[in-house]
Amino acid sequence: MPKLLRLLGGLAIATWLALPGGGAGVSEAWAQPTVSGIRVGQPADNITRFVLDLSEDVKFNLFLLPDPHRVVLDLPQINWSVDPGTGTQARGLITGFRFGQFQPGTARMVLDLGQPAEIVLAQVIPPRDGAGYRLVVDLRGATRERFLEAVQRTKPTALTQVAAAVPPLGTPRRRGDGRKIIMLDPGHGGVDPGAIGVSGIYEKQITLMFAQELRRKLQATGRYRVLMTREGDEFVELRRRVDLAREAQADLFVSIHADSIENRQVRGGTVYTLSQTASDREAEQLAAKENKVDIIAGIDLGRESDQVTSILIDLAQRETMNHSATFAQILVREMEQRVHMHKNGHRFAGFRVLKAPDVPSVLVELGYLSSRADEQMLRSPAGRARLAEALARAVDRYFEGGRNCAAAALSCPP
Ligand SMILES: [Zn+2]
Repeated sequence: MPKLLRLLGGLAIATWLALPGGGAGVSEAWAQPTVSGIRVGQPADNITRFVLDLSEDVKFNLFLLPDPHRVVLDLPQINWSVDPGTGTQARGLITGFRFGQFQPGTARMVLDLGQPAEIVLAQVIPPRDGAGYRLVVDLRGATRERFLEAVQRTKPTALTQVAAAVPPLGTPRRRGDGRKIIMLDPGHGGVDPGAIGVSGIYEKQITLMFAQELRRKLQATGRYRVLMTREGDEFVELRRRVDLAREAQADLFVSIHADSIENRQVRGGTVYTLSQTASDREAEQLAAKENKVDIIAGIDLGRESDQVTSILIDLAQRETMNHSATFAQILVREMEQRVHMHKNGHRFAGFRVLKAPDVPSVLVELGYLSSRADEQMLRSPAGRARLAEALARAVDRYFEGGRNCAAAALSCPP
């Protein structure tokens, strides 16, 4: 009798395991393993089983995270041949899951647990009974104490702990070729899809396409060196996005998003800057949602020493916040001329991604993916080009202002 069945000691499991898993026909010569099916089942009363149908054997790393309780599976680069909407299944201990690229070379699955659990089994089962390779994870309910013990035993892969070479505050800016450095930050990515549009498009796709268009426009002027926090469909931690801007000694950081809310009538763009107190309830809720993406992607926030949270009172930060506000005002004016804007165009909230103390930063919500009209505009290349034009002009105005304002204004761009 196979070890797995002996372990679980039930015959009912055998039939469940023998279900055809779509393993047949997935024998492409791609270098990457393919996942062709994802299933959640309950082979026994107290066991929740999670299964990935695989084209080949893979190495994986599994670890647990508390608050909220999650199981994280890191895999090699994977070719996902499954419907992205699959993650809505909830069964047994698993209340939902997500998957996608985490970092170059690493794919990640995050399972949300409704309660503390322990891993009974986690292994790749070789082809059998007409089914292909399957990665099987069996979970059983456990006390919080046992769960926390397992958190200590299991560890994230080394990749999630990349240390950044962030310059200390007050580091003199290096002199380059005179071009300003713009860091564009396409929101979400990889395992974190962001909001989902009325037609099913993901926020992570819109933000990347938009950032690429904006980069083209800015670079065409010859006045800017444009960098991006992500180039493809990969996950980047919020903290890492901030660090990338600081490492590059960027002159401006623009985080790009496209939210969705329940009220489908609400539409229009909004520009956000950092503030300890949110300008209104909706801004506060949005920031809370955007700040949660690291949890969504299976990052343990408890492990981070969060030096950026206490920085708000810093003088450098205050000056940076003035610059951010100046840019936000210019940007709202430019956007108003070209696209539909939210009634309250410039708002404030505590977005983690805006906390670089020495890089002026704004977060732009291009529009609402829950609004049919906004989504349509953001899906179309012409719509994105119109919006990108507004942003590129605002960047120009902002730095032009810097060249002319030296004597007059209080908050000249750096
Ligand atoms: Zn977002």
